Amino acid sequence: MTDLLIAGGRVVDGTGAPEYTADVALVGGLVEAVGDLAGRPAARVLDASGCVVCPGFVDVHTHSDLTLLSSPSAHSKVRQGVTTEVVGNCGLGVTPVLGDLAPLRGAAGYLDLDPAVGWDWADLPGYLDVLAGRRPSVNVAALVAHIPLRAGVVGFADRAADAGELDRMCGVLGDALDAGAVGASTGLVYAPLTFAREEELTALARTVAARDRLFSWHIRDYGDDLLDSVRQVLRVAEATGCRTQISHLVAVGRRNWGKVARALELIDAARTRGADVAVDVYPYLAGNAPLSQLLPAWAQVGGEAAMRERLGAAAVRDRVREAWRDLPNGWADITVSRIPADRPGVTGRTLADLGGADAALDLITEFGNAVMMVAGGRSEDDLLAVLRHPATVIGSDGQALDLDGPTGTGMPHPRSYGCYPRLFADHVRTGRLPLAEAVRKCTGAPAARAGLRDRGELRAGMAADVVVFAPDRIADLATYAEPRRYHRGTRTGEVLRAGAGG
Ligand SMILES: [Zn+2]
Repeated sequence: MTDLLIAGGRVVDGTGAPEYTADVALVGGLVEAVGDLAGRPAARVLDASGCVVCPGFVDVHTHSDLTLLSSPSAHSKVRQGVTTEVVGNCGLGVTPVLGDLAPLRGAAGYLDLDPAVGWDWADLPGYLDVLAGRRPSVNVAALVAHIPLRAGVVGFADRAADAGELDRMCGVLGDALDAGAVGASTGLVYAPLTFAREEELTALARTVAARDRLFSWHIRDYGDDLLDSVRQVLRVAEATGCRTQISHLVAVGRRNWGKVARALELIDAARTRGADVAVDVYPYLAGNAPLSQLLPAWAQVGGEAAMRERLGAAAVRDRVREAWRDLPNGWADITVSRIPADRPGVTGRTLADLGGADAALDLITEFGNAVMMVAGGRSEDDLLAVLRHPATVIGSDGQALDLDGPTGTGMPHPRSYGCYPRLFADHVRTGRLPLAEAVRKCTGAPAARAGLRDRGELRAGMAADVVVFAPDRIADLATYAEPRRYHRGTRTGEVLRAGAGG
């Protein structure tokens, strides 16, 4: 007998095809049938009339590697319809642990909200075992992150990897891909990746391409050097034939607005030449990252501990202040969103408010890579151009969080609670993006980028990852000031109560 019959909804199947009215039958964790199934015996029936019924959202860009261990119920994500999280983005990851844990943990501070989580694994299979033991409410696919590879093999020095080190990195990467990773990621603003030469990126891309997996890039610069940074990705993609993703394509700083259109032209030209290059984006005009990302590369040599010590010297602070005169964003655009301490009057305030460059330097000196910022200075026209591009898929760049417990602190970016409802409220209901195309960008398209063949489309035989939402009512309620608010307009609660959540 069918476990759950979702009756009479507007089926949007994730391929971009037009919607049609149908019933959806789920059994044993799979989609059993889609069609006119009136009268079919079912343990539970969910009346979906007036609602969109579509595949669960595949969030191709997340940083939930560790938060899923602290908060496996993952309410911030599963409630907005996300059923698959792709972790390990932006070069930030938790495996493999090749050397000392402390410098790696320092470099990946962005992921590390909960000191109680022990890193009790050495490699990807070990991490996935620990994760499976926590029984997360979402499916998880992993990218192999470049930071643990380079930190473990080369360390934090500003130098090219030698031939032996390149071989070792590619060998470890290949092992992790063979163990089930769906791809790799780099993040060229983060130490030690800011020291990686193009030869290294090309070698990694070849390793990924040999297994037909995905290589995701947080590119070298999203500000003044956006276009050269995009050109670098395209060079490597075309030299290696690697399936390639440019993460969160944006232009930071008013003087760079409009460059996104040129970046999309470069990407289109490469695609026309046969390169498999696509883009992800989240529907907000501010990003979220470690504050230390703003530091020049030379200030990050040696890793987090060396960086913090260096920033204690007056002459070093003067040099950083000098470099920061030319930042594309002003301090008023940057809000401190999290510090790993209970200190009133810091979180939620802009750096302009807190004292500008000196305050930023003090915070990084004290807390290293664990100081998070929400940084604005982006253009709505740029966002729309990226959202509408056929090669763009949605990735929240957020984390699976809960209201309470170790992931319920600080002022997270609201995308962790509202990314998908916001897309449908701000861009579909307003007519900027057709419904079927928006659903494709959240389901079939990101599943294809990640190489997931058993989900992302709603048809018989696929995983029973299904979202039911009211398209006229769905809306995000999380804001920068009140980020930990669930949205309205999905039927997650009802489906979870019916015991058939995918
Ligand atoms: Zn990211």
